[in-house]
Amino acid sequence: MSESASGDVRQRAGALLDRTFGYPSFRGQQLEIIEATVRGDDNLVLMPTGGGKSLCYQIPALIRPGIAVVVSPLIALMQDQVSALHQLGVAAEFLNSSLGAEDEARVHRRITAGELDLLYVAPERLLQARTLELLAHSSVGLIAIDEAHCVSQWGHDFRQDYLELGRLREHFPDVPWIALTATADQRTREEIIERLHLRAPNRFVSSFDRPNICYAVQTKTDARRQLAAFLEGHRGECGIVYCLSRAKVESTAAWLNAAGYTALPYHAGLQAEVRSEHQRRFLHEDATIIVATIAFGMGIDKPDVRFVAHLDLPKSIEAYYQETGRAGRDGAPADAWMIYGLQDVVRLRQMLDASDAAEAQKRIERGKLDALLGWCEITSCRRRALLAYFGDELGRACGNCDTCLKPPVTWDATLAAQQLLSCIYRTGQRFGAGHVLDVLMGKRTDKVKQHGHEQVSTFGIGAGFDVKRWRSVLRQLMVEGYITADPERYGALTLTPESRPLLRGDIELHLREDTSAPTKAKRGGGKRATVDLNPADEALWEELRALRTRLAKDQGLPPYTVFHDATLRDMASARPASLDAMRAISGVGEVKLERYGHEFLSVLRDHGVGATAE
Ligand code: ADP
Ligand code: ZN
Repeated sequence: MSESASGDVRQRAGALLDRTFGYPSFRGQQLEIIEATVRGDDNLVLMPTGGGKSLCYQIPALIRPGIAVVVSPLIALMQDQVSALHQLGVAAEFLNSSLGAEDEARVHRRITAGELDLLYVAPERLLQARTLELLAHSSVGLIAIDEAHCVSQWGHDFRQDYLELGRLREHFPDVPWIALTATADQRTREEIIERLHLRAPNRFVSSFDRPNICYAVQTKTDARRQLAAFLEGHRGECGIVYCLSRAKVESTAAWLNAAGYTALPYHAGLQAEVRSEHQRRFLHEDATIIVATIAFGMGIDKPDVRFVAHLDLPKSIEAYYQETGRAGRDGAPADAWMIYGLQDVVRLRQMLDASDAAEAQKRIERGKLDALLGWCEITSCRRRALLAYFGDELGRACGNCDTCLKPPVTWDATLAAQQLLSCIYRTGQRFGAGHVLDVLMGKRTDKVKQHGHEQVSTFGIGAGFDVKRWRSVLRQLMVEGYITADPERYGALTLTPESRPLLRGDIELHLREDTSAPTKAKRGGGKRATVDLNPADEALWEELRALRTRLAKDQGLPPYTVFHDATLRDMASARPASLDAMRAISGVGEVKLERYGHEFLSVLRDHGVGATAE
């Protein structure tokens, strides 16, 4: 493309961004990706959740002639995506099995008439002969594959119908393809390129950093009290609480409801209709918490999830990153909060050992779990370590994670560790944590007496610490590999070869001091997409939200398709007094201004905005 042609594309893209989407500037590599796509290149785009992948194909769809076909795996979400585009005045439709015959005929007519800029399609629908036939007779200008990692058998969301998408290349040989995903390691990337037959694709790899998410991990002491304290800072907001088991999902949801929150359970044991109803409510209602197993979340693109709380550990850093990534897609501050304790360490390791996966597979998974556990215990910047795990480098401490905001205190635990290790050794490496700690602390329980453990030399040498502190020492020694719990023998603690130099006094050990006092959600400095509201604006914001909810409800849409939280917050603090001033707010494009501008202005006027200006 000539220089002037590419200048022209940049200009058109910028105008669309401003007029249609209402945003002042592109994020990250968006513009380069758009240019390459309009030019006709194939592209592979790796961008973290919330990075703004959609614009990378939506704007080219509006610039390139013909219809852009967007393949998306989640039928439940297509409708919301298309509704959001309608709100912007974009000609878009979707085709999937949820569509009635009449609607389907209407969409087919619009395709044939060349009226559409974007068509969202489920993969299995796209691959049907009649869909291909239909598209063959209309002009397709772009193929976008969302959640492209679903083609990879190596990844965790593999879908057979995605694999078949490679066949499409022969049907649309001269059309640029763009494949997008938020989760792809090197191997998955190569698989996407190969399986989709991308032609010499440009690779756009963004940083995995999510600067607006504040990461925090606490030691589990009293899970419910800790969760309650955390949620105090999130009243009135939407979020996700992850639990390991269905039973815990149910009991946690019930407890939250009793505590005055709106909490909906979601797990694979619920009927499909209940699940989709709960998902729908979560997407469409304000102030709703979903309590879920990992069955929930793939492709949830609700932008205003303000927190993701883990009551149990996920099984790897990858899983953790993906689950927490559902928070704060709109760029506004969000919390990723997790609690974990000794029990989690023991149980997850045991589950792994007990699984019937091949030994090589288990070794990989053990490594992944250990990496996660080590990350939980880290005393330096949590974000930096998280990014380093994905091969991303952050040159400084982030200032927006728990370890940055409140640096953990460490203490010299060499002697304590030696005491604990010898106690395990003296009692024959045959007992679990409870009994070993009883002996160490000098408790004359029946079991202690029965085994004559009052006589061992380590009986009572640890009486100076309470059980919480000893559990903290034990957990950290396990995470660091000095001790293992043998699942074959009911979690009996045994020493590893690594413990020898520690016992001999050849090395010193510093452990982190557990601060287990429940803390309210507290987000740190970090990069903020929106301003904090002062109390006066807060009331206005609530009214703007109420108006948004009403407008959305009238149309059966999720509130965020009317305006995002971030947009309303900006409105509440900038207080535009005219349509022109409102147009300058990020997220207010031409169509939305025309559709909603007056009503929002009148709420602002009721608050005295512009009273003197007119
Ligand atoms: P992804 O698919 O990468 O997770 P989305 O495409 O859903 O992310 O975008 C996340 C949010 O960011 C959306 O609400 C979107 O409207 C918003 N967004 C995208 N690009 C920009 C931009 N250049 N300026 C402001 N907001 C943007
Ligand atoms: Zn940090």
